[in-house]
Parts: sequence; C-alpha cells; structure tokens
Amino acid sequence: MDAQVSFLDQLFNQRILHDSGVDGLYARSAVFEEVISQFEEFALAFGRHEISEAMVFPPGMPMADFETSGYMKSFPQLAGTVHAFCGSDHDHAGLLQCLAAGDDWTDQQKATEVALTPAACYPLYPILAKRGPMPETGAYVALQSYCFRHEPSKDPARMQMFRQREYVRVGTAEQTMAFRETWKQRGQEMMRILELPHEVDAANDPFFGRAGRMMGASQREQELKFELLVPVNSTASPTACMSFNYHMDNFGKAWNIRLADGSPAHTACVGFGLERLALALFRHHGFEVDAWPSGVRKALWG
Ligand code: AMP
Ligand code: ZN
Repeated sequence: MDAQVSFLDQLFNQRILHDSGVDGLYARSAVFEEVISQFEEFALAFGRHEISEAMVFPPGMPMADFETSGYMKSFPQLAGTVHAFCGSDHDHAGLLQCLAAGDDWTDQQKATEVALTPAACYPLYPILAKRGPMPETGAYVALQSYCFRHEPSKDPARMQMFRQREYVRVGTAEQTMAFRETWKQRGQEMMRILELPHEVDAANDPFFGRAGRMMGASQREQELKFELLVPVNSTASPTACMSFNYHMDNFGKAWNIRLADGSPAHTACVGFGLERLALALFRHHGFEVDAWPSGVRKALWG
C-alpha cells in the first residue's frame, strides 16, 4: 500500500472524511468543517480591511460564461457540465428501461445552462463586467466557491469537489501585480503562524495536450503563477495549498471588463485550497485538534 492510500485510509478510519465509493468525492466531518471555517476567518483577517466586497458562489456557473472563460480550450480534461432529462413521457419510459437493464441511460441527458465551476473566481468576472467601467480603485473581492475538477485520485488532497477561498484584484497592471506580491508574502506569514512547513515556487496550470505543454512553459517563464507548497501526502512531492495568479488582461479582454479609461482590466487572484489546508493541518498537527500546538489553536480559535 502506498503512502497516499494510507493517509486517505487514516482520514477514513479517524472519521475525518467519509468514503463515498468515488475517488475525490468525500463527506466531511463536523471537525473537518470547523477547521475550514476557522481557517476562513483567519484568512479573512488578513485582507478584511482592503476588500471592496465579499461574495459566495454556488458550485455551478452560467454555461455561457463558462464558454467565454476558454476553459474547454485549455483544460477540457478537467471540466464538468450539468446535464438533465428534458424528454417526454415516452422518453422517460425508455430511460427507465435502460436503467432497469443496466444500460447507459445518460446519453438521453441534455446540456443545461449550468456548468460546474472550475475555478472560484470565474463567476465573478461577468458580474463585474456588467457593472460598466471600473472605478479608479478597481475591485478587491473576497469570495468562496465549491469547484469541480475531473481528476479522480486516491490522494486525499486531490478531490473532484473542493472549495477555494480567494481574494481577487481587478484594476491596472500595477495594482494587480502589487496585490499578488503582497499575498505571496502574507501566504507565507499565514503558514508560519499555522506552523506548517512550506515553500513558494513558480508553477503552471495543467494545460491539455501538446499545445498545452507550450502554454504551460510560457506561463512558467512569464512567472504568471506561483504556488505555496506544503507536504500533505508526501514530503517528496508537496501539495499546492495556495496559488498566486496574474492573468494580465486576458480575463479583462475575454469578459470585457473595462478600466475607467476604457482599456481592458488586469486581474490577479490568490486562491486558498480549503480542503488542502485543512488536510495539511491534520497531517502536521495530528488528528486531535485539541492537541494541536497552542499557537496554532490560538490563531484559529482565538
Ligand atoms: P488552481 O486554480 O489550480 O491554482 O487552484 C487553486 C487552489 O485550489 C490550489 O492552490 C489548491 O490549493 C486548490 N486545488 C486545486 N485543485 C484541487 C483539487 N483537485 N483538490 C483540492 N484542492 C485543489
Ligand atoms: Zn482565481
């Protein structure tokens, strides 16, 4: 049995997560959720004084906005869309027959106007775009969303459904790059307070296919993405628990988000993988939260 399976099994045995039979899809215990909500409070304390507003999104986003994001071009392997039965009585009878016979009934499902949100900040951009040109101060939004990525795994830190808490900055190139630099520092300070071993490194997203490899290399070369890594499953390959992304004006152009002078807005976001951070805390401080180091308990529970 490898180390990844063993950490997942420990989490099941300790009833911190509950197995659903599908890799990457787990029920969360009360204690796991409490760690997440305390971490969210802790993370909000670092930026509460700067944000212009806060939002929480449902796990689905408009299909039209999902299409605009270009996600299917870059990450078709990770995407999930919501399909539903839209047929007649006759079609329903056929569907039930398929189900009873153990045949595939899903080809009768039709795409809806909802896609599963792949990244927490995507639903924000169309909302900002609809408001018209940005004020000089831009926007600084704290948000949270469930996300879906089709990457089933025995690594408990690689889930199919998980939450990201993000701060998103929309404005000029200077505003967004300064924001990202600030959060790179703050992210490391947060990890020091929570007594988690960590390092920050340049990274790239898992773009699909051969063209994708070139996109990944270019993203890395331009230092558009950094990750804060913490050993969760293995010390050999630590897990990205936070990411610090600068999208230049790509999203500003895609969604038509304009600055006061009419030029496309630049965007940057810092994402906290909430389940990953909770798992890192359990991994390093043990399964008994009452026995966590006093500094960590004080930071999370006050
Ligand atoms: P990304 O958009 O890939 O930079 O993801 C933002 C953050 O979400 C990452 O830094 C991770 O902490 C978290 N994350 C990404 N993918 C997963 C996953 N499959 N399971 C759990 N957390 C994830
Ligand atoms: Zn984001």
